[in-house]
Amino acid sequence: MIKDEYFTLYNGVTIPKVALGTWQSSPSDAYNAVISAIKAGYTHIDTALVYGNEEAVGKAIKDSKIERDKIFVTTKCPAEVKTYEGALESFNTSLKNLGLDYIDLYLIHAPWPWSEMGKNCDEGNIEVWKAFVKLYNEKKIRAIGVSNFSPHDIKNVWDATGFKPMVNQIRYFVGYTQKEYTDYCDVNNILVEAYSPLATGSIVNDERFKSLEAKYNKTIPQILIRFCLENNRLPLPKSVHEERIISNIDLDFKISKEDMEYLNSL
Ligand code: NAP
Repeated sequence: MIKDEYFTLYNGVTIPKVALGTWQSSPSDAYNAVISAIKAGYTHIDTALVYGNEEAVGKAIKDSKIERDKIFVTTKCPAEVKTYEGALESFNTSLKNLGLDYIDLYLIHAPWPWSEMGKNCDEGNIEVWKAFVKLYNEKKIRAIGVSNFSPHDIKNVWDATGFKPMVNQIRYFVGYTQKEYTDYCDVNNILVEAYSPLATGSIVNDERFKSLEAKYNKTIPQILIRFCLENNRLPLPKSVHEERIISNIDLDFKISKEDMEYLNSL
């Protein structure tokens, strides 16, 4: 059952194969979504300081009464933070917001501030990464990683510290699979997480997938999410609707080799 399956990071930490995404979920929607998700068998929640819903996510986890070691929580250091002290401060804010005493996975949200996409922030990323390594060594985080990082960005922080990121969370869905990034991560044993596995909802009714929907008797979102798993990417589908949350983790089927070839060719 997919709900009981894990990827293993290179440091030995196991990470549940599907996470609930919470970007663009208001605090009250995020609260209800996390409650529904845990009830439906999700054990992995993805949030970020900038989503503004960490407190609600933390409260839902607490109210669900799930044991702390049975839930995997990912959050992110804002893309705009590019200093050592700033990263430590952001981490402490997230920890407090979530009401937790450790984070399972902490990510640098992006290699550049969102308003300056593509800017070279190599020095700043090294400073932030040094803070991550310190927190990891202090056991305040079980795994550390990056998001939206190119091979150059990963090499930059790795070379400077001798410490390789365990995860790269990138935009990834059928028709947008970022081969250069995934090849680099695969060769270096860095887990790729697939964010926006439904292209933020824009491909859930796409005509190209109608025949597969009928063939597998699964919805298009289920096929799109399963596609990520077949390629060993960890999908983070977001929904605030209980029936979709339930169906987005109902993934115990296989896509045939031929159909995967077709989907990978798009
Ligand atoms: P997504 O998961 O690709 O798609 C979510 C959209 O699809 C929402 O509009 C949702 O609507 C709709 N949807 C979900 N399940 C559906 C279903 N079964 N049938 C029909 N529609 C459905 O979107 P995303 O939020 O862009 O990405 C997912 C997560 O990845 C985020 O929430 C976040 O945690 C993470 N992320 C990370 C970054 C980063 O920079 N690291 C960037 C983007 C996203 P409803 O909510 O109304 O159901």
